[in-house]
Amino acid sequence: MDVYVDPDKCIGCEICVNACPDIFEMQADGLSHVKEDAAACEQEGCCEEAAELCPTDAIFINGEPR
Ligand code: SF4
Repeated sequence: MDVYVDPDKCIGCEICVNACPDIFEMQADGLSHVKEDAAACEQEGCCEEAAELCPTDAIFINGEPR
């Protein structure tokens, strides 16, 4: 499962970081990013939940927004 945050859509609300802190982190640009050392998305079980909670559909899983 490939996960990606579109920096043009992310508004830095931190919802995904709170929902799935092992995958997403806030960085200095004020936006969410997938952690460098993130475990595989499917192992965490919260990736899709975070994507569904994202208010701007900025999180793409396998190339698709949720
Ligand atoms: S939930 Fe969406 S808009 Fe909010 S920080 Fe995460 S990616 Fe960005």
